Amino acid sequence: MTDRDRAAVCQGPYGGDNGIDDCGDPVRFEVARHLRAPLRVCPVHLGPALLLAAGVLWPPGIILVG
Ligand SMILES: [Zn+2]
Repeated sequence: MTDRDRAAVCQGPYGGDNGIDDCGDPVRFEVARHLRAPLRVCPVHLGPALLLAAGVLWPPGIILVG
């Protein structure tokens, strides 16, 4: 899998550190994070990512993509 492919799939719910539990669904939202790359997630993992991923801003900054 290339970096480009990886950027197009969900990194939720914990920001890409999920190991074998990576979601792999297409990205629909980009969540802004403090001092980290934006977190790209699918609709299912948008909520969990906001609550569980490291560095998420509050109130959240969310961009619709894809
Ligand atoms: Zn997902």
